[in-house]
Amino acid sequence: MSYPTAALALGLLLLFALGWWLTPWLTAIGLAVAAIVSHTLWRNARASVIDLLRDPVARNRPFAENVARIRERLKVGEEGIKARDAEIAQRRQITNAIPDGLFLLDRDSRIVWCNRAALEMHELDAFRDMGRPINQLIRAPEVLAYLADPDLPAPVVTQNGRTFAFHLEPSENGDRLLLTRDVTERERLDRMRRDFVANVSHELRTPLTVVSGLIETLTDLPLTEADRNRYLATIATQTGNMRRLVEDLLTLARLENDQVPIESATVELAPIVRDALADAQALSAQAHRFSAEIEPATVRGSASELRSAIGNLLTNAVRYTPAGGTIAVRLGRTEESPPRVVVEVRDSGIGIAAEHIPRLTERFYRVDRSRSRETGGTGLGLAIVKHVVQRHRGQLEIESTLGHGSTFRLVLPVA
Ligand code: ADP
Repeated sequence: MSYPTAALALGLLLLFALGWWLTPWLTAIGLAVAAIVSHTLWRNARASVIDLLRDPVARNRPFAENVARIRERLKVGEEGIKARDAEIAQRRQITNAIPDGLFLLDRDSRIVWCNRAALEMHELDAFRDMGRPINQLIRAPEVLAYLADPDLPAPVVTQNGRTFAFHLEPSENGDRLLLTRDVTERERLDRMRRDFVANVSHELRTPLTVVSGLIETLTDLPLTEADRNRYLATIATQTGNMRRLVEDLLTLARLENDQVPIESATVELAPIVRDALADAQALSAQAHRFSAEIEPATVRGSASELRSAIGNLLTNAVRYTPAGGTIAVRLGRTEESPPRVVVEVRDSGIGIAAEHIPRLTERFYRVDRSRSRETGGTGLGLAIVKHVVQRHRGQLEIESTLGHGSTFRLVLPVA
């Protein structure tokens, strides 16, 4: 054998060896793909051919006609598959639109499937976490106990600042559906309602205890005329406090009820500010120095609500400014363009520490409880002001320094 022939033979041998080594893999992959692709088609075709062969009429039909019929059947099968796919896509869309989280768990509590809300609520990853046991992902002990024993009460668990309620739904084949609902907002409202009821009860119980004690004393004991009058005056003060509390509660309930639309009259603010100022001066009984700077200004909204808000600010200025202090009221416009209406009440009173300022408009929030009560406060004044301002699409601005007075500002859109 010559040298080139030997080299060619060796080359061919190597190529053959490589081919020999690769061929089974390529063949296996090709066969697998071909098998998967043709399996469905073959099954449908086989069913169609068997049907046709069993059919004595078909046996006598021309070959071309039988082929056409088989094609027709295959087409119908394909359309069925498409319809199923569409149905699955639609169901997926529905489950993803549900705001509650849904997990389908197998017997070993592994996640078989879950909807989008479940992924988002529990910060899971569809690719990473599918197939993993749920107890590796939701680790709250109450939930684990509930998964092990569904007769336990359904747990409500707070994790990372959010509260979830869980519910397990068994199914016939041993799989289970775990539902999770984000109840953070519901819990917050429930807590607010409970706190509110507790606060109102407490606010009413205190004056009621005083009044009932004094009535007993007046009934049971022989008193001098002076003592009787003193006790009666205290009863009048306490009932006045209770009346104011009930009135403020009713006002707040009306303002918080979104169903009650705001009046939309054009309101001239100057007379309202002047009236509120006169009331504040009467309350002060010349204990403070007042100054006023009042320009004409109109806004749209409810005169009675605005009167109540401005009155509250001026009354507070009197109540939280020691005798000899100053109170200045200003009605004007802001510098910005377009300008807005400003009602500003500035006092030289006790002031408020910075940490209290963000909470002042909460119902029953008081910096100094005893001072508020002594001066007939209900703890609802600034909550009312905040709601009035919001309903008029305005803002309440508060600036204060402890010991150096406060400024409360209502900023409202011009009519
Ligand atoms: P209250 O009836 O207690 O005055 P408000 O809702 O009107 O209730 O005010 C809430 C709290 O804000 C008051 O208890 C008081 O501590 C504080 N506050 C309100 N206005 C002033 C002010 N002008 N100066 C100092 N503190 C004030």
